[in-house]
Amino acid sequence: MGHVKAETCEKCTTELVTITIHVDGNDLEMHSCTTCDTRSWSHAGEPVDLAFALSEVGQHAGRQR
Ligand SMILES: [Zn+2]
Repeated sequence: MGHVKAETCEKCTTELVTITIHVDGNDLEMHSCTTCDTRSWSHAGEPVDLAFALSEVGQHAGRQR
């Protein structure tokens, strides 16, 4: 079997669910733990915080007024 790259939760080691959103030519990824509800974000391969992620989504993929 191949080596599957799966990120795991730092707190409970549950395998994280990754959701990829394409924004502004880059991939914004949300890594979500279904067990303890920890979420982390990355953008273009770099870790980012929630505020950055939401601003990216807000600017490029939605209209929030
Ligand atoms: Zn967890």
